[in-house]
Amino acid sequence: MSTDTPQSPDTQKLTAFEKLKEDSRYLRGTIAEELKEPTDHFDKDNIQLLKFHGMYQQDDRDLRGAARKEGGGKAFGMMLRSRIPGGRMTSEQFLAELDLCDEFGNATMKITTRQSIQLHGIAKGNLKQTIKRINDVQLSTLAACGDVNRNVMCCPAKRADGLHQEIQDLSQDLAMSLAPQTTGYYELWMTDPETDEKTLVGGQPEGSVVEPLYGPRYLPRKFKCAVTLADDNCVDIYANDLGFLAVVRDGKIIGYNVLVGGSMGVTPSAAKTFPALAKRMAFVTPDQVIDVAKAVIMVQRDYGNREDRKRARMKYLIHDWGIERFRAMVEEYFGSPLQDCTPDDVSGFDDHMGWQEQGDGLWSYGLNIENGRLYDNEHRQLKEAMREICGKLNPNVRLTAHQSVIFCDLQESDRAVLEEICRRHRVPLTEETSTVRRWSMACVALPTCGLAITESERILPSIIDSIEQPLAKLGLDRDAFTIRMTGCPNGCARPYNSDIALVGKAKGKYTLFAGGALLGTRLAYIYKDMVPEESVTEELIGIFAAYKANREQGESLGDFCHRVGRDALETLAAEAPKP
Ligand code: SF4
Repeated sequence: MSTDTPQSPDTQKLTAFEKLKEDSRYLRGTIAEELKEPTDHFDKDNIQLLKFHGMYQQDDRDLRGAARKEGGGKAFGMMLRSRIPGGRMTSEQFLAELDLCDEFGNATMKITTRQSIQLHGIAKGNLKQTIKRINDVQLSTLAACGDVNRNVMCCPAKRADGLHQEIQDLSQDLAMSLAPQTTGYYELWMTDPETDEKTLVGGQPEGSVVEPLYGPRYLPRKFKCAVTLADDNCVDIYANDLGFLAVVRDGKIIGYNVLVGGSMGVTPSAAKTFPALAKRMAFVTPDQVIDVAKAVIMVQRDYGNREDRKRARMKYLIHDWGIERFRAMVEEYFGSPLQDCTPDDVSGFDDHMGWQEQGDGLWSYGLNIENGRLYDNEHRQLKEAMREICGKLNPNVRLTAHQSVIFCDLQESDRAVLEEICRRHRVPLTEETSTVRRWSMACVALPTCGLAITESERILPSIIDSIEQPLAKLGLDRDAFTIRMTGCPNGCARPYNSDIALVGKAKGKYTLFAGGALLGTRLAYIYKDMVPEESVTEELIGIFAAYKANREQGESLGDFCHRVGRDALETLAAEAPKP
């Protein structure tokens, strides 16, 4: 065993962050005191604890230079993320989030790559009111960020086959079973902003809360969980710390193959960090899922690295131990041996865009939202269209892991109404969106993400603009492949297993990855490093031209790049005729 992984928490020299969590009295810290102070931001320690409450303190980085010149400070604003298991919402909940982004946020709303919603730019003084209103519509921000199990992902499709409902129910059970128990969240945020009197308490007085699953230090690092069916990996299950892949026999779910240790995050300055796909660990029956999930979390809780946050994700524990030892420890915590995985594995990916019959006489419509950003401007009124669709048709709403929206349970007669609303607000229907745009996604990056090295969401649309025509000229405009972009190597848009990825490396420069897989089952390789923003289009067109000229029958872009390898791809890209 590597000495990198301590054998038990007792032998570890805890980081300051671990001590902060332990001393926080179950995530309370001095947040209540700071909320009363007339400042526009929080101090260092509470900033870390606030992540567990679903928020990051940020500032508008576009305004930093001007503020500095004028001798002013940062333009602070909080990013507030809701926890929405499987991305399932009502129209009322969706409308409430839209109202909040207009009232308290920066008037835009971001659908995340983990089926959540982020509001940006919320002033410290408006936090309580915003969080309370989110809870008023039965959503929560608790554990949307932080060293705990975060939003549980699940295939969001509405189907009357029994299978989808079953995995969606399971994702809800997982979310409830793995949620932190601290009442500190309710004490802090569920109080009347005017009177400061408690209007809702979690049931336990301060000081008596024990987190039976997490303990006082919570987990060593964030933890991500997903559930899906083998023929539809729309949640990118191999990118999660813990995945449950349903095994279906004769139209019924007989159990789940359990995948462990996936994670995209990398620290560029630390060679000891790497992206990893999950490993197949064991098969569990439906009644074992929750206890096995807890056992996995407890192993990571007790043996995960609390000395070095850069190596604290569960993937490093599994890397250092090996999957056999990890599984043996999970079995010990679970209390009995587990069965081996069945051969069932990921075999398809439906992004659920466009019109789909649910099988119960009703329809779903997947509307592609470019990079998940909802906004109104003089060209397009996305928020207005959403408001009208939710207000008039009252559909159930599902958020996808590709940052888009599915409107569910629509009548046949609703179809024309929905399309007319989109057209009137100049929102492109999915059918009018190019395949490459539909399968692309980008993280937030600048101006709000504090870790961003360079642009992502703000420039990907123009990169897509520049490759749509060349792809059409090459006859590749109907080929589905993923292009994902991030503003730093942290990997929020899951770049490392996509067909093509652009990962911010320096200001205006990207690492270009190729050779991942649409199914999310293979890591990409570095094709070129430090590619200037202005050369990205040319590099991509070179790859597309090489693919067109040299692909084998039925071969996908990612499979082609993987087969030929980096050096040959570079040569073929240079030689191939360009459109
Ligand atoms: Fe920020 Fe990096 Fe995540 Fe993008 S990938 S949102 S830049 S942390």
